[in-house]
Amino acid sequence: MNRERLLETLWKIEVKNKTAVELYQEISAACMNEILSEKQKIPARRAYYFSVEYLMGRMFFNNLLALGILDEAREIFARKGFDLNTFEDVEDAALGNGGLGRLAACYLDSAANEGYPLYGFGIRYKYGLFRQKFIHGEQVEEADDWLRTWGDPWSVRRENEKIEVGFSDMVVTAVPYDMPIYGNSVNILRLFQAEGSPEAEKISEYLYPADDTEDGKLLRIRQEYFFSAAAVGQLVRKYVKNNGKNFGHFPDFHVFQLNDTHAVFAVAEFLRLLTKEYHLTLPRAVEIAKKTFNYTNHTILPEALECWDVTLVEKILPEIAHILTRLHIFAKREWRTCGYQKEEIAEMSIVCGGKFSMANVAVYISGHVNGVAKIHTKILKERLFAAAYRHAPEKFLNVTNGVTQRRWLLLCNEELARFYDRNLGHGWRENFPMIEKIDCDDPEILEAFAKIKETKKRQLASYIEKREGVKLLENAIYIAQVKRLHEYKRQLMTALAILRIYFDLKAGRLPDFTPTVFIFGAKAAGSYKRAKEIILFLNKIAELIASDGEVNGKLQVVFVQNYDVSYAEKIVAGSDVSLQVSTAGFEASGTGNMKLMLSGAVTVGTMDGANIEIVEAAGRENNYIFGATVEEIGELCGIYDPVSFATRNPRIKEVTDTLTDGTFEDADGKLKDLAASLFEETYNRADHYYVLYDLLPLVDALLKVNGEYQNRVLFTRKQLKNATHSAFFSSDRAIKTYAEKIWGI
Ligand SMILES: *Cc1c(COP(=O)(O)O)cnc(C)c1O
Repeated sequence: MNRERLLETLWKIEVKNKTAVELYQEISAACMNEILSEKQKIPARRAYYFSVEYLMGRMFFNNLLALGILDEAREIFARKGFDLNTFEDVEDAALGNGGLGRLAACYLDSAANEGYPLYGFGIRYKYGLFRQKFIHGEQVEEADDWLRTWGDPWSVRRENEKIEVGFSDMVVTAVPYDMPIYGNSVNILRLFQAEGSPEAEKISEYLYPADDTEDGKLLRIRQEYFFSAAAVGQLVRKYVKNNGKNFGHFPDFHVFQLNDTHAVFAVAEFLRLLTKEYHLTLPRAVEIAKKTFNYTNHTILPEALECWDVTLVEKILPEIAHILTRLHIFAKREWRTCGYQKEEIAEMSIVCGGKFSMANVAVYISGHVNGVAKIHTKILKERLFAAAYRHAPEKFLNVTNGVTQRRWLLLCNEELARFYDRNLGHGWRENFPMIEKIDCDDPEILEAFAKIKETKKRQLASYIEKREGVKLLENAIYIAQVKRLHEYKRQLMTALAILRIYFDLKAGRLPDFTPTVFIFGAKAAGSYKRAKEIILFLNKIAELIASDGEVNGKLQVVFVQNYDVSYAEKIVAGSDVSLQVSTAGFEASGTGNMKLMLSGAVTVGTMDGANIEIVEAAGRENNYIFGATVEEIGELCGIYDPVSFATRNPRIKEVTDTLTDGTFEDADGKLKDLAASLFEETYNRADHYYVLYDLLPLVDALLKVNGEYQNRVLFTRKQLKNATHSAFFSSDRAIKTYAEKIWGI
């Protein structure tokens, strides 16, 4: 990369009479030119990441930062009278739903930065995750036509590298769009767009189309097979062209990482190609696959572990169904020979109950299976994949997730980055764990950090005011719970805790209460009714409190619309407290918790996912841990009765009553359904996620924060301890672990 040449090109860009979009295109194109001209020696052995989601966020600032020209570019255009911050209006590339997709993006960033050859494969959706609006407190979804206004100057269409993907009823053309990921190496995220017919185009139209109908399920299967087959097809053909048909060396050059089960059809396609087109025996093909594939599990929620009806797969992909069925028989024979118990074989079976278990395919074929936080990996070993673990413990390992400090610190909290520069020099930018050297007991350092937090809070407040039209309380604690809306993440529990505090404030029971703002951000999946009801409930609580003169100077709730990566950048930097309150055992890792930690938020959380490692790193005394542990939840199972539990606790009953007693208008029974989820058996047991069980401990933790916040030195020290002990949660560390322990690159 020729930095001088690039800056010179930028200098020559004329701004007069150009629209922001034109300038965006032109500046981006100049940078892309420079990136694409980079000549590099690419190692022969490469890792490939298969993911149905990539939540890249806005590329502009990130890429300029990676190129090392962000500050200069800002200045160059400022002198020309154009503010680069105009591009904060550029839409996010939101080709993902949440943590899983953002993790993929962070890993690409870290791999490029660490100089590892990691290439991503995915789908170039026409519409990203929907755009969210609230109307009368309810979520309304709009199509996210992300390419419409600003286009996509950060990727290149590779017309001559397209490949056909066959279904029994149609052939689809997969056209690659390559997005370079710039760092110490230049890697590629290759997203395939489906073309050829209107039917074909549907495949890359929407992320996670509803799958409650047969057509919906078929479309999902098509999507998953489409990009997996396109990727595997290209790599196998290229290998044959360069190395001939001796596939014995394929694993020397390729290592595949399956980001959850969405790309497990890649396994089937690989076996199909090797056996059908290149005439290897199945045992030989399996042997090669076993040296090539690896699998990361991201969830133990049964409803999220994909199983596809054999008959559905047969309908559009008969050869794939056939090879998976053969694999099922082959694996069973292998297990029997090795002396597995009958029950173990049933548990690990590839076909169960007329369905293909994609997780079982992945576990069987993968050389390594990893969980994403210590406790999650432990649960995989002890519960989800216990049989497989007993027979091949060496296959299982943990790689705790991470986030890239380039986006989640350098880009979103420049002030904090410069604070590290001042106190440590620039070395920490290359050697992140150095930040631990900051002296958290030095009063001047503490004061400087506190000032930065104040600045970031003001910036956040003004951003929220601009976007939502809501003015946040000043001199208040900012507490954020930002993540997908899901019952296990327990936004409902926070809602009830806020009501508890509200009632106590009104009754004068909290005389020393520090003003507090609760900031929520979350999208609910389109078909997830109960999640939408929780959004509505929180918006109603926000309204109730805002219109109550007795408390509205002390307590505030704001639910921001369209939470996405760019919104997250503001919220994580400007929050004092991070809420991570999932039912213990349910949150595989969480990465939002890490982003907030990087900017020094303290965690109010349960002992779940990466929270456990966060408090290990930053000190339990510097965070606010509450609630039932995994073991306690296990013991409660079958004994816990939320109805009698609430009846015995008037402080709980008073707040749950608001769901049904007319406190809130509820003509269509949406809040009633939330009450039902707590007290009645619906699609889950009553209070399946132990919301009421952990409710009062959460209130206590929040009140403890509230009191301690008033001691500025003590609280700032806790925050700084978190910030300076966050280096472990860098995705650079995670990607190094993958590279060394799994990929061998
Ligand atoms: C990091 C991130 C997530 C994941 O958050 P969790 O708290 O780990 O669930 C989801 N959405 C966006 C936009 C993110 O940036």
